[in-house]
Amino acid sequence: MGWMLAMLSIWFGGAPAAARAVEDVRVSDDRIVVRFDDPVGAAAAFLLGGPDRIAVDIDGAVPGGRRSTGGPVAGVRLGARGADGARIVFDLAEPAVVTGGRFSDHGRKLTINLRRVDPDRFLRATTAGRMRFSTGLVAAASVPVSSSAAMIVDRRATVSVPVPARRGGIALPRVQGDADRPLVVIDAGHGGHDPGAISPHSGAREKDLTLKAARAMRDALLDGGRVRVALTRDRDEFLVLQERYAIARRLGASLFISVHCDSAENPNATGASIYTLSEVASDREAARLAARENKADILAGVDLGKQSADISSILIDLTQRETMNASAGFARLLGREAQGQVPLKPNYHRMASLMVLKAPDLPSILFETGYISNEADAERLESAEGRRAIAQSVRRAVEVYFARRMAAR
Ligand code: ZN
Repeated sequence: MGWMLAMLSIWFGGAPAAARAVEDVRVSDDRIVVRFDDPVGAAAAFLLGGPDRIAVDIDGAVPGGRRSTGGPVAGVRLGARGADGARIVFDLAEPAVVTGGRFSDHGRKLTINLRRVDPDRFLRATTAGRMRFSTGLVAAASVPVSSSAAMIVDRRATVSVPVPARRGGIALPRVQGDADRPLVVIDAGHGGHDPGAISPHSGAREKDLTLKAARAMRDALLDGGRVRVALTRDRDEFLVLQERYAIARRLGASLFISVHCDSAENPNATGASIYTLSEVASDREAARLAARENKADILAGVDLGKQSADISSILIDLTQRETMNASAGFARLLGREAQGQVPLKPNYHRMASLMVLKAPDLPSILFETGYISNEADAERLESAEGRRAIAQSVRRAVEVYFARRMAAR
């Protein structure tokens, strides 16, 4: 395969994939212009907070050349990224976001448009993921074969990821617990005009059950005293999915737990399950669940624009692997601790492209605590004992998770 790609590269690009050098990086008030000595096929830009930076990854390029600062950019740094790529980091003196960009000059020039924004808007944009740019001109060799996400790049021209607009900033919730403890953010699914699933038996709404369960988890964790806890919402209000993990990231959380109730047409479907992020769903049921849970934003009338395609197939950054491993580790722990306390599905750990789990640097799980559509499950979810069992399972899993991480250091 590697041999074939090398041949393709010579065939299309006329030079080995890694030979393109960055010649010049220039920043002005509203744009970044990067020039290369040979055509480059694909690049991606993303934002990082604390300190605020814009990073641009360029496939098949090597660092070098001249650079100048300007506009909101106070510093420009270049480095190699892997065996075949360059990363340019722009240190920001003022918050600014990438609003678009394109390749021109047959792939020898990349222009990235900037806009100064307020700190809240910058923060929201840091959760938007990568904005990818592609010329479509350069050989397949510039697309890493190992990455299904990167394969998608070639089919797109310039892609821009809109930032969901929201009046005002994100109100940060209260954090409870001792200051030196790691922070767990618990996210009660749905809320406000989005009730989530509704029980056909009692009429109970998912948004109310998730809030009660989240509060029970918070209380159990605070009782244990090993972690700090914050809830993304502690009342009946609506939050966009991206805001939920943006809150957790802004607070500096170490673990994110989103709480939901499952539902199915089959009234016999029963048991809790624990989801972690994946581009590809582990089974058809998981895919259906992701489609249902991701719909919250669409229902809310959030303008998803060109991003809507990503709702069903979320592009995951390869650097997320470590986070995904940690998430899977916690999912297994929670399954183990819930055993015998909370009825679980036999294959309780599942994967799906769930928007709310998409924070790249924050281990995250979605806990489907049971089926609101199943009479016995709904009864359990509506009962104080049922909630207590869920909360105690979470508490034990969280405590073991952080104890292991401390021990590993
Ligand atoms: Zn839900």
